[in-house]
Amino acid sequence: MTSISSKWELDGDTYKTLLESTRAIPWKIHWDSMQFAYIGPQIEELLGWAPDSWKTVQDWADRIHAEDRDWAVNFCVAQSKAGVDHEADYRALKKNGDYVWIRDVVHVVRKDNGEVDSLVGFMFDISERKRTEEQLAALRRELEELSFKDGLTGIANRRRFDSVMETEWQNACRTKQSISMLMLDIDCFKQYNDRYGHLEGDQCLKRVARLLSLAAARSRDFVARFGGEEFILLLPDTNESGAYKIASRCRDLIAGEHIPHEASDVSKYLTVSIGLCTATPECGDEVRGFIELGDKRMYQAKQRGRNTIVSE
Ligand code: GH3
Ligand code: MG
Ligand code: MG
Repeated sequence: MTSISSKWELDGDTYKTLLESTRAIPWKIHWDSMQFAYIGPQIEELLGWAPDSWKTVQDWADRIHAEDRDWAVNFCVAQSKAGVDHEADYRALKKNGDYVWIRDVVHVVRKDNGEVDSLVGFMFDISERKRTEEQLAALRRELEELSFKDGLTGIANRRRFDSVMETEWQNACRTKQSISMLMLDIDCFKQYNDRYGHLEGDQCLKRVARLLSLAAARSRDFVARFGGEEFILLLPDTNESGAYKIASRCRDLIAGEHIPHEASDVSKYLTVSIGLCTATPECGDEVRGFIELGDKRMYQAKQRGRNTIVSE
């Protein structure tokens, strides 16, 4: 009587046909000689290298992208020596010089005494998946960048400011350097919108953002839109007199543009009020008080008639 299990047995030819008709490429390497015992003929279609050109492990290593080679070879050898099944993703070299992303899934076959006998595995073409992953990663980077950018002016937004401020504040604590900040607010901007329209107001904000970016010339100087028509300049390693110069430069740059503002109570051109503060923070000092001080001084500049800088 035929047993159920024998019904499921396949002869060697059928196994071979099955293995060689899949998209995954089977292979076998003898551990002692480090020679290929077998590689599926599909390899030629994928990479262009004929099966009989895969003789030794060195052939395999030579056909890995130089940037992936050390990692892939070291990882696979270490895992195999330890007798651990593993997977490795790497770029395989095609005969025409192109590369294909491969996932090599490896099973370690042991002898009865536990020593490694051979490695068997499948190579999968994962180029499509890698392309999708790379596109997703690029999108993620773009999104992250956008989430830190002010949509209108293209400079850093409040969220980014909060994070940079925190970092620079901690840095100033550590290095015992002074840090300065300018809080700028456009004067009579409501009237500007009323007089020229909201779209023109938007253009004006973009222009001011560009000018402020010019005023902050050092590499760690940082400009952000704090909200509405308020901007912030963060000036690390800058003392009060240095910061005052930058504040004056901001005013001069904006005044020099002669942006018409007929409805302003202050001038016929656009002006800003600036609150300036400088600190040499002690560890444990809260950044919040510093920002509140900048805000308070900016408000004082408004009370003192606008178009002015308040630094104490
Ligand atoms: P002050 O001199 O006291 O600062 O007066 P102000 O009119 O500038 O101040 P207020 O805070 O009363 O008004 C700010 C105005 O800025 C109100 C708001 O319509 C305008 N504003 C805020 N964000 C934008 C924006 O993205 N685009 C435009 N066009 N206007 C904006
Ligand atoms: Mg305001
Ligand atoms: Mg204003």
